[in-house]
Amino acid sequence: MQKKSHRTLAGFGLLASLMTAPSLAHANDLPNLSNNHFQSCLNTLKQNFASRGVSASTFEHYRPAQPDPTVIRSLNYQPEFKKDVWDYLSALVDEERVVDGINAKNRHADTLRRIENRYGVNMHHVLGVWGVESNFGQTLGKKNLFDSLATLSCFDRRQSYFRGEFANALKIVQNGDIRAQDMTGSWAGAFGQTQFMPSTFLELAVDFDGDGRRDIVNSVPDALASTANFLAKRGYRTGEPWGFEVKKPAGAYVSSDRRTKRPMSHWRNLGYTLADGSPLPSTLGSAGILAPAGSNGPIFLVGRNFDAFYAYNASESYALAIAHLSDLIAKNQSYNTNFATPWPTDDPGISRRQSKEIQQALINAGYDIGAVDGIIGDGTRRAIMQYQTRMGVPADGRAGQKFYRLIMGNQSNRPQSQIIYQNQTQPSQVAQPVQQPVANISWGQVRQDGVSGGVTRYRTVINSAGQTVLVPVQ
Ligand code: CA
Repeated sequence: MQKKSHRTLAGFGLLASLMTAPSLAHANDLPNLSNNHFQSCLNTLKQNFASRGVSASTFEHYRPAQPDPTVIRSLNYQPEFKKDVWDYLSALVDEERVVDGINAKNRHADTLRRIENRYGVNMHHVLGVWGVESNFGQTLGKKNLFDSLATLSCFDRRQSYFRGEFANALKIVQNGDIRAQDMTGSWAGAFGQTQFMPSTFLELAVDFDGDGRRDIVNSVPDALASTANFLAKRGYRTGEPWGFEVKKPAGAYVSSDRRTKRPMSHWRNLGYTLADGSPLPSTLGSAGILAPAGSNGPIFLVGRNFDAFYAYNASESYALAIAHLSDLIAKNQSYNTNFATPWPTDDPGISRRQSKEIQQALINAGYDIGAVDGIIGDGTRRAIMQYQTRMGVPADGRAGQKFYRLIMGNQSNRPQSQIIYQNQTQPSQVAQPVQQPVANISWGQVRQDGVSGGVTRYRTVINSAGQTVLVPVQ
């Protein structure tokens, strides 16, 4: 039986919206939404919501003055570039995230143990979800939920689904669980450290710190216990691993079919072993096979707990990221995030740190890709294509290890003591870095220059020593 994802469509969560963030180049493609239509739609919703327990005064208090067209753009966003599973995994399960996970485990050890006892969910599985969903509570999404959900309730496709979520979001503040100013999240309404949709919150969020409020935004115990409760209610089996990487029988062709579960003896008889050649353990009752990159890539046997991860966001790559991250945190292993069998590619994916280095190198080379955020969106990929064309290599726009080596190799030829800034209008110009605190200055910010009395625009640049410095832009 297929379990339904709480977000009903893959891609509604914060994570997916980050992975496919519409680039700056699309800033002018916003749909033109009629505010007259919006306000009359809201009037209807206000009446309908009364029967769902949302008071008119609550509705009016959070009623948006106008629609937010950016969420409709996000709803209809189609990525220009295909993302391979190894690109997805390498960004989600990099050394930085494993280290953050190990630190989070140490910091919240007592809470995690109590949650494990209460819900029967392995603490590393909870940590895996937390790390992939919100980077251990560091990335929650900034969009006002009422603006987003009201807009999605009145325009374009899936209005009836979002009307339910809008009503539920209003109920949450009306109940007093979450403060209104904390109701921010992804464009589609997933919010908090668990990235729950409002309906999932009402069904499954729990108060674990005992203050009487289910606050998955500010309370780590509430957020982690709510995650464990989610998994427990979606078929999680206490004491079982999610699965494991395996080695297929020599010469076998494997097709992915994780839903067809068979007992471990079946797989043993076919000749499957663990990746290191040792026999399959009996810790899993039954398992299906997952071959995310086909017969020649890493192959896994996965059980019901993998399906519980899948219920969180209907994507096998996503569930595998949670599974893999949780294993590495459990093993305290941050130095090698690869599977035993390499991905079937000569151009593996890159970490978030490498993504940032590529973005900075592109900016240094004169490409206007916006802020360095470690997210390879369409804007960055178009710049990569231009750079590849300039360098005479195939222009596929892909940010993999090959492109990383190409552009970083060109970077290292630069003088170490200064940063060369180029842009299209002024082909070459040397600017001295300004060695001063950069806390309050971001890319492209304009500020008064005390010496000349003029206005100077700065960029933050990571120099060859790894320091962040300011470079004035003419
Ligand atoms: Ca609480």
